[in-house]
Amino acid sequence: MGRKTKRVVHIPKKRLPKFFSCPKCGKETVVVKISRDSARSIVGCSSCGLNEEFSVKPAQREVDVYCMLTDKVFSSPKKKEVSKNPQKKN
Ligand SMILES: [Zn+2]
Repeated sequence: MGRKTKRVVHIPKKRLPKFFSCPKCGKETVVVKISRDSARSIVGCSSCGLNEEFSVKPAQREVDVYCMLTDKVFSSPKKKEVSKNPQKKN
């Protein structure tokens, strides 16, 4: 039992994908552009036309912007109007 099987696991280096999958239409056509000068970023999907703009901190990367996009898309109510509570007339 003195034998140890050494497992060598090759982990492929993860590259930042140029295109992100769109939270709206599901296609990998989302491009994040960051302009460091103005500390802003523009996320756009060339498929469905989704377009958002975020302010970015210097430490944030494309993937962070993409996360903000998905957060925004998923958290925003879809066609769901906040129904006002009808005032009760006493
Ligand atoms: Zn899209």
